[in-house]
Order: sequence, then structure tokens, then C-alpha cells
Amino acid sequence: MSAALVGAIELGGTKINCAIGTGPTDIRAEAIFPTNDPRSTIAAAIDFLQRHSAGLKAVGVASFGPVCLDQNNPKWGYITDTTKPNWSDTAIAPAIRNAMGIDVAFDTDVNGAALGEYRWGALADCPAGLYLTIGTGVGGGLVIDGKPLHGRIHPEMGHLRIKRDPADPFGGTCPFHSDCFEGLVSGPAIMARLGCTLSDVERDSPQRGYVIDALGQSLATLTLILSPHRVVIGGGVAKTPDLHTDAIVATRKWLSGYATIADDFIVPPQLGDYAGVSGAIALAQDMLAVR
Ligand code: ZN
Repeated sequence: MSAALVGAIELGGTKINCAIGTGPTDIRAEAIFPTNDPRSTIAAAIDFLQRHSAGLKAVGVASFGPVCLDQNNPKWGYITDTTKPNWSDTAIAPAIRNAMGIDVAFDTDVNGAALGEYRWGALADCPAGLYLTIGTGVGGGLVIDGKPLHGRIHPEMGHLRIKRDPADPFGGTCPFHSDCFEGLVSGPAIMARLGCTLSDVERDSPQRGYVIDALGQSLATLTLILSPHRVVIGGGVAKTPDLHTDAIVATRKWLSGYATIADDFIVPPQLGDYAGVSGAIALAQDMLAVR
């Protein structure tokens, strides 16, 4: 059976990636719009889908959060109480389903990316595969035997607390916790600390070292709790040269010999910037497969 043709929406905090296809090697149309106010942003995505609606079987949406994933909740498919201005309590999946008249699968952006990498990329051989994005924010998605983990709401891996080096003068940027994973390692945190990106400083600079150390500590904790077979790190900060190699060294330091990890335990996304929309395609196809 050939893979179903579906629409894919990756809704991020700064841009919304839209695509039509059956997988990452068969993208038949794509478009990127800025994430502005909810009304115009969702309208742009719907307009794209409607212009390419011939033969579409379903739509997959992978969204920034927090989101409601509970199918029995009337707010399923909504962004709930986000700190992003004007986006709290916004219907995403229901709006697309109503406009298109076809079924919509919905999950977090990172669960979508994890599923995309599991289906077609770097997590393909991993019964437990973890995807982390480090960019404007930090988030993580876990796919176990091909199914994204939801749990009570969905994981919020970006807000792990970090034991900060007492010599580090930087206090972190998270409005909830200051020095959590996101507050120390996200793109805005790095910019607040350095005044530039991580790529702009020397690999052995102490300030880069603090960021990598916080990353390693977070990865060690996630490795101990979730026991993933591999970790993919994507997002803008993950494009820093040598980041994945340095992350392995820092993670080993924080594991302190308690659990060993291979040199290919932490890798970049094999699907590159297509991990998210590929995941949205996989979400829609998996929903159709269980019908
Ligand atoms: Zn936080």
C-alpha cells in the first residue's frame, strides 16, 4: 500500500512550516509563513492547504505548546496557557479540521519531530527515541515503539532544574525558574549571556563551557530517567559547530561513569529542517492507519 498523501503543519513560535506530501523524500508543495497573530497565521496555513487539497486524506499538525492532547477534552487541539502573547486558548487542530472537512492529527512540535526521525531518520532503529529542540525555547519529545509519549499533559523537558556552577555569574532567563535547561541553554539565554550566538565564541571559552555543561547535565538527567536509545538535538542552537560532540563529553561527565553512552548517542536530525513537517506527515498517516 502506498503512503497516504497528507497535509503537514509545523507550528513554531517564530514560523509555521506547511507541506503536502507522503514523506520527506516526497514533498509536493511547501510554504513558510511567519507566526504572527493566531488568526492570520492559521488562516495562512488553511489557505495553503486549500490550494493543495486535491487528494489529501488527512492533515497532521505539530505545534508549540503547551497544548491539549486529550481527545476526550473539549479543548483538544488547542494551545492552552502559553506565555506567547495572544496565543493562549487558541484552537489549532479544530480550526483546520472545520475548514478542510478532513481529519486532523495533533501533537507537540517535538513529539512530531521525534516521530519523523523515528519513521525516516536518526531514530529509525530506536525503540525509545528522544528528540530535543534547542532554539527560541527548549523542548523534548519521546517516541516509544513508534508512539509519542503524552502522559498527563505532555513532557516539558525544557524546564529541568540545573545545578549551576557557583562561579557562573549568569542567572538564566526562564521567567518561571531562572536557571533551568531553557533558561541557560536556549538561543535567547545564550544571547543574554554572550551578546552573540554560541557559534561566535571560541570552542574553549569559559562562557561556552557553562552552556555546554548545563546541556550535558540536562542530557544526563534525561538519559537516566527516559533511557533513550539515542538522542537527536535539533533547533537553531544545535547548528553550533561541534555541539553534539561536546554534548556527549559533557553528558559523560555528569553521568560520572554510572551509565555509558556511545559516540553516536547524541546526533543531529537526519531530516535536518524537515524533521518537523515530516513528523506532521507521520502523525497524519499513523492516524489513518488505525482507522
Ligand atoms: Zn524554566
